[in-house]
Amino acid sequence: MRNITIDKKFFKEIIEKKKLFYKQIEKEEFDTAISNLNKETKKCQAAVKQNCDTDEILCNQYVIINCFWGLLRNYCKFWRFLGDNEFQASWNLLQDCFGNIRGIDMASNGKELFDSDNFYKHLLNIEKLYPYKMFISTELIVKKIICSICEKSPYDNDCNHIKGELYAGKFCINIVKDAELIGSSFVENPSNKRCVILINYDKSKPRYSSFGKVWQFSKITPLHEYIIKPKKVLLKQKEFLEYAKALNVDKEQVKNQRFVPVTFYEVTKSTSII
Ligand SMILES: [Zn+2]
Repeated sequence: MRNITIDKKFFKEIIEKKKLFYKQIEKEEFDTAISNLNKETKKCQAAVKQNCDTDEILCNQYVIINCFWGLLRNYCKFWRFLGDNEFQASWNLLQDCFGNIRGIDMASNGKELFDSDNFYKHLLNIEKLYPYKMFISTELIVKKIICSICEKSPYDNDCNHIKGELYAGKFCINIVKDAELIGSSFVENPSNKRCVILINYDKSKPRYSSFGKVWQFSKITPLHEYIIKPKKVLLKQKEFLEYAKALNVDKEQVKNQRFVPVTFYEVTKSTSII
């Protein structure tokens, strides 16, 4: 991998700005943070445009810095969706955050400067709260593929570009120009976790849905880890019926019982990730 090093001259400004953004995110001032992050992105994009022909090293650094602003912006959007009980949309934003981290990790000194290891662990832990365990993977016969930088086949000897790396401010990707879909299969570890099997739930009653753990997590403070513990609760018969409907639990046991014991998971706030 071609290592990119973020120049020390950027450090002071990045550290000051990330502190400010972390404060806004913890206070759940997502709109303010997103608006400020958009300004930072515009500045980075202008700097990339200005330097792409003359200074590739500088240009690539601005792309990486922008990956960090993108990570924070997607993290804010993730929390906004959580707040609206839009769990499917929040899952997609989590995946976007992982994409930003992959970009940041190209910088040899990015892990400390951009706290990328902490974010990575945090996001993996959040994923575990979701009920998505199976994914859909498509099977393709690729007939034509090109490199996004030189537009030649990536197998051509004249193409020296490596997928995922930065060239004058642009990520090299392989573009499928022609392919035949031969089928799809269910997998546990897909390359694209956005291809989930959708799970229906009642947005007005998230507590009793398959997204109950995610909903509980949405009540803690952003940028914090969580602790999850099983908790036995007694549900009134009416509450139990709602719970049973959402989770396909046997309704028979409710007969003649005013209260039904159920094991829930309680999600509470733990240490800060930053
Ligand atoms: Zn190429």
